[in-house]
Amino acid sequence: MKIFPLVVAGLVSGCAPAGDSNAEAVQAPVTSAAATTPPSASGPKLAFPVACEIGKTCEVQNFVDRDPGPGAKDYQCGTQTYQDHGGIDIRLHDMAAQAAGVNVLAAAPGRVVRLRDGVADISVKSNGAASVAGQECGNGVVVDHGDGWETQYCHLAQGSVVVKQGDPVAAGQPLARIGLSGNTEYPHLHLTVRKAGVMVDPFAPNLPAGACSTGGGAGGGMWTPEAAKAMAYKPSAVLNSGFAAAPVTMEAIEAGAIPLPTATSGMLLAYVRAINLQGSDVQELTIKAPDGTILATGDQAPLDRAKAQYMFFTGKRLTGDRWRPGEYLGTYTVRRGGKPVITRQFSMRL
Ligand SMILES: [Zn+2]
Repeated sequence: MKIFPLVVAGLVSGCAPAGDSNAEAVQAPVTSAAATTPPSASGPKLAFPVACEIGKTCEVQNFVDRDPGPGAKDYQCGTQTYQDHGGIDIRLHDMAAQAAGVNVLAAAPGRVVRLRDGVADISVKSNGAASVAGQECGNGVVVDHGDGWETQYCHLAQGSVVVKQGDPVAAGQPLARIGLSGNTEYPHLHLTVRKAGVMVDPFAPNLPAGACSTGGGAGGGMWTPEAAKAMAYKPSAVLNSGFAAAPVTMEAIEAGAIPLPTATSGMLLAYVRAINLQGSDVQELTIKAPDGTILATGDQAPLDRAKAQYMFFTGKRLTGDRWRPGEYLGTYTVRRGGKPVITRQFSMRL
């Protein structure tokens, strides 16, 4: 969604969801673009803005859409964005992680110039986009870094904003917690960077407007070396994986409430949810039993197009009295052009 520069009084506008997750598979709305303008001066160095660890407790779901036309391209010319997305989205694994509390941190020193709190943490899937019209950002904070540079932090948890208008902030200082306010359907931070009111892609501030390049992130853009390393471009990522005692839904994964199998469960399943898959990606999920035999294999047909997120599960019904005791091993692989780009293993003991 297009991000409007924050206007005076209130805070303002944010991002749209990366995909509407109504089934096993979800497609990001993909099409046109936000205007990006190279900054006239190099801005502040930006630190990683969330108290989470990419690859362990969070992932980058979306980058800035650099394509000015009816299409969407991230700075690496990939599909990890959607039409008019004007910032970056750092996503928690599920609402259980959100409920535990994850701080949003000032990316650079500055002063709080605008903020909003009081918007409920409700998925936009519940009440629709119209319910958050005019406050797409949800609860948010804008920090002025001087010389026309601003950072805006969106979708913060209701009641979590711990700074006030006018407060000076240091890089890394907590501003609030990640929430589910505004136009979002999963817990994440949307961060927009602006120079003189114009959105800047912090990963590739010097690329011409509308351009992308596989070398576009050279030098880490505006990020500190640590932040650039943490957010290094990945082919895709696994957000969730594990075992379950019953068929899994996207909603249950998002809630973080998946019942584990027991020795006498009627079913033993493994599930996975991955993000930023590409068209023609081939996925496989297997469960290996404690005796080393393959208990179940789930092969997905090659994807027909890029998927912002995708979930599936595989498994078996109990036929005897109980499951064999020992360790069960789940293995998830994604192949792209015949080569594995993701392998994730996870285990459970019964
Ligand atoms: Zn966003």
